[in-house]
Amino acid sequence: MTVEQHKVEADISTHGKNPYEIVQELLKESVSGLGLDESIYQILKKPMRLLEVSIPIRKDNGDIVNYTGYRSQHLDILGPTKGGIRFHPDVNIDEVRALSIWMSMKSAIIQLPLGGGKGGVIVNPNDLNERELEELSRSYIRKITPIIGPKKDIPAPDMNTTPEIMAWMIDEYDKLNGYNIPGLITGKPIIIGGSQGRLEATGRGVVITIREAANAINLDLSQATAAIQGFGNVGSATAHFLHESGVKVVAITDASGGIYNENGINIPELSEFVAEGNVIADYEKCESISNEKMFALPVDILIPAAIENQITKETAPTIQAKIVAEAANGPSTPEGNDILEEKGVFIIPDILCNAGGVTVSYFEWVQNTMNYYWKEEKVNRELEEKMIGAFKRVYKMKEEKKSGMRQAAYMVGIKHLVLALQARGWIK
Ligand code: GLU
Repeated sequence: MTVEQHKVEADISTHGKNPYEIVQELLKESVSGLGLDESIYQILKKPMRLLEVSIPIRKDNGDIVNYTGYRSQHLDILGPTKGGIRFHPDVNIDEVRALSIWMSMKSAIIQLPLGGGKGGVIVNPNDLNERELEELSRSYIRKITPIIGPKKDIPAPDMNTTPEIMAWMIDEYDKLNGYNIPGLITGKPIIIGGSQGRLEATGRGVVITIREAANAINLDLSQATAAIQGFGNVGSATAHFLHESGVKVVAITDASGGIYNENGINIPELSEFVAEGNVIADYEKCESISNEKMFALPVDILIPAAIENQITKETAPTIQAKIVAEAANGPSTPEGNDILEEKGVFIIPDILCNAGGVTVSYFEWVQNTMNYYWKEEKVNRELEEKMIGAFKRVYKMKEEKKSGMRQAAYMVGIKHLVLALQARGWIK
């Protein structure tokens, strides 16, 4: 992602819903849906460790600005905790807590030997120049160094953080430790131990789950249309793979505005345009469209790939899509989810849909640990296998429990965690 793209995603509003309360509610319902004891919910409901840090930065104008950052580690019963770091003005302690729980769920659904973690800094990256951004990145990692490490907690990119930022962070960590420790962070540039395929992995995974959902509802993807909210790392890769599968992407929106072309947007051309430092709203050959209108388009597939709480009781009734693929974390409120379910929309929940990122991060960490690197073809093949396996487990659970896809995903994740809790003697 370029610095320009940082600008795009920093302004989308989260509508003030508390994601930590939302995820706790979902955990509670799913524990009871599985007929498990309430004590399981008591174990899962809070992160095991939460750190708040202060990050004073000297700006180029001489002022000191003190930023606040967090790192949350939810549960490490399956393996070291793992999850991204986000730079965003709306970051807050409850969001980071919720995001770390979601990471635990993703790893459990995919059956990775990892727990859930997440970090964030309350910052609008648009307010910083490149040098200031580097100082912030290095200082944040210094502050969380006591609780991270390749065997403890492994960060990665998230919203507004890039391979370049991961490189600054790992360089700082290596300096502090005195030697090269490539397994500390994933999503690194390939030259310093990043994995082939990691940059596109989340989008690739999103499209694999869309393909599985389309099979389940007999939707022919070569005739299908899609609309996407967000054109950052995940939105743009998703658009690319959809385009490659023959899906017509007719609309894309972000904080710069929105574009619509009923004959399909030329995605390779748009990606090039954005890579040159432009925003999507300035792309010609399209009409402009608002976010509200984009949600209400008569498309087959709708993909929120931006931020939390976008599918709400206000927007959900207008949605006409047959499949909603949650490429973002937490894009639907519980009310929004229920309205979509009542309408019979096939929801691919976030903790399944966007788990391709952490899956290839896991492969990256494995390669770092072996110090032996895979070809892209192997990475993509193993990703596909993991995503399809996870989709099948969730779909089977939905059929068995006659639940929605979201609750089924939580139930699959919780069931897997319960096996680990039993093996460790926490519960009988
Ligand atoms: N930030 C990504 C997520 O939310 C990836 C995390 C990782 O690769 O560890 O899933």
